[in-house]
Amino acid sequence: PTSDRPSLLDGLDPEQRAAAIAPRGPVCVLAGAGTGKTRTITHRIAHLIRSGHVAAGQVLAVTFTARAAGEMRTRLRALGVEGAQALTFHAAARRQLRYFWPRVVGDRPWDLLEGKLRLVGQAAHRVGLGTEPEILRDLASEVEWAKASLVTPEDYPVAAARAQRDAPASPAQVAEVYRAYEAIKNNAQVLDFDDLLLHTTAVLEEHGEVAREFRDRYRCFVVDEYQDVTPLQQRLLDAWLGGRDDLTVVGDVNQTIYSFGGASPRPLLEFTRRFPEATVVRLERDYRSTPQVVALANKVIGAARNRPAGSRLRLVGQRPDGPEPRFAEFDDEPAEATGVASRVRQLLDAGVAASEIAVLYRVNAQSETYEQALADAGVPYLVRGGERFFDRREIRQAMISLRTAAADPPPTELVTAVRSVLAPVGLTEQPPAGGAAKERWDGLLSLVELAEELAATVKGADLRRYVAELEQRAAAQHPPTVEGVTLASLHAAKGLEWDAVFLVGLAEGTLPIQHADGDDNAIEEERRLFYVGVTRAREHLWLSWSLSRHPGGRRHRRRSRFLYGLLPEQHPDARVPRGQQISKAAKPRCRVCGGPLRDTMEIKLGRCDGCPSTLDEELLARLKNWRSSRARELKVPPFVVFTDATLLAI
Ligand code: ATP
Ligand code: MG
Repeated sequence: PTSDRPSLLDGLDPEQRAAAIAPRGPVCVLAGAGTGKTRTITHRIAHLIRSGHVAAGQVLAVTFTARAAGEMRTRLRALGVEGAQALTFHAAARRQLRYFWPRVVGDRPWDLLEGKLRLVGQAAHRVGLGTEPEILRDLASEVEWAKASLVTPEDYPVAAARAQRDAPASPAQVAEVYRAYEAIKNNAQVLDFDDLLLHTTAVLEEHGEVAREFRDRYRCFVVDEYQDVTPLQQRLLDAWLGGRDDLTVVGDVNQTIYSFGGASPRPLLEFTRRFPEATVVRLERDYRSTPQVVALANKVIGAARNRPAGSRLRLVGQRPDGPEPRFAEFDDEPAEATGVASRVRQLLDAGVAASEIAVLYRVNAQSETYEQALADAGVPYLVRGGERFFDRREIRQAMISLRTAAADPPPTELVTAVRSVLAPVGLTEQPPAGGAAKERWDGLLSLVELAEELAATVKGADLRRYVAELEQRAAAQHPPTVEGVTLASLHAAKGLEWDAVFLVGLAEGTLPIQHADGDDNAIEEERRLFYVGVTRAREHLWLSWSLSRHPGGRRHRRRSRFLYGLLPEQHPDARVPRGQQISKAAKPRCRVCGGPLRDTMEIKLGRCDGCPSTLDEELLARLKNWRSSRARELKVPPFVVFTDATLLAI
């Protein structure tokens, strides 16, 4: 339509544009990482609003992590869109429930449950199970899986068997814990995260007038990362739609990383079956990453097994050439963290912004070593980025103190007042040395920086004005900027991008995680997680691992199986030893299962990776010998063989 300012659709390629300008109704974009799915939907929203098809307030866009929702809001703002909601499923449900609860239940909405494990512990105790933290965590994730999968305690044993759940107790016991947990929680009148979705769905399904009001208000629904939708979220989405079809979904089956929690890409893959008239678009140009990163990403996902039809897309890089991805092996984790920190330092010195660098890991427990190393190297970092900034305990405390102070503002200037209010909350003169305390301090400092910004830009802004600004930001979950290198889990990194990405801890037992071993589906999910990590990088990509956890520890860890076949040709380990050249006539076969071997590492081991093998010990001994002789040949210590030795100062 002529009402479009040329700039809006100019930024899209023909396929993206087709999805952006499709008339209202079902639209599905099925495409790989970095192909512009999120860009397409934000442009589509802007286009629909600008061309008068829908009012901004009628749009509800949802995704799965707070960071990704924040990213969507940032992009919408950049397109000049104000008033369209972009939230996580949970945040959207929470708002709706708060709004409708007084009318439906006639009371103040129940609070959100804090300390879930404590409640699960009480439930486990009632059932006579152990209450060790690991058991409680596993029980809690079983309950979460069941609720997200719309499985009741009664249905749990059958459903868990069908889904091959690996629970810490018998199915009947888990069902008992689930039942007891629900009872204790309801008794305490609190809601867990899944309840937000369950109750909102129930309100919309059971209260016609509420549903009508809601559906009058929201008319256009958009879901990013649709491959990770759970049955519960899908049911909520259906309740929102109420039989209408104004739904745009985008996703990448290869980035399904929550199936352990009940998510499934099936609704994405079956979208056209449900909406035969849908506009379907596939994208394959990768605008995010250099061809070097794209090539690696294609290899990673090309090795995936049992890929559903519709997921076999190849990314085609669009950007100019960049540096090759780099691989580095370290003796132990602190050495790895120090190596990464010194590399980060070099990037910063070369002018890369800290906010353009991320260190990504499999489990949050890994962050501590990296926090320490970055702090030692004098590198600013933030562990959770913008995620739930206003939900952090110290920020909540700060807000309470600031609100109280603003009711009776002191006669001092706007920065001094904020500083003095925040001092008792933990804003000391000098920053703490590092770790979580430093992170808290940085968060508080960012509140002071906001005050400074306000004092510089708004004349006569006082504490009241400042608190009003903060409240507004809190409502939008738009944190004051904290500049720093992002430390995040791979799960939390989904949908985001950085100029430089460090994927760390790529060792067996960490990625893939220990408990995935021996479970094909779980291994494939770990591989997709790795793919998500690789595809976050625009330009620089470092992949590293270490052979032991602690300095001086036994170097018994092996690098991740997902690295097989990825290491560059000159890498000694990636070479096919003489005499074992792959000949076209006789393809080497796995000695365990007889299947074809796909890369040099598998050939060297004589079996395909992941194949349960009793030959490991013998093969590993052979490999070790081979490594040592190569090391002697190259005149380097045995464990440096695999790295480009000049690459990292180890
Ligand atoms: P993911 O699967 O990781 O969520 P995505 O498909 O949502 O990725 P986007 O984040 O939308 O991809 O886009 C990746 C990057 O490529 C962004 O920086 C985006 O601005 C850029 N990009 C997308 N499409 C284009 C285009 N047509 N021209 C230029 N840049 C583009
Ligand atoms: Mg995206």
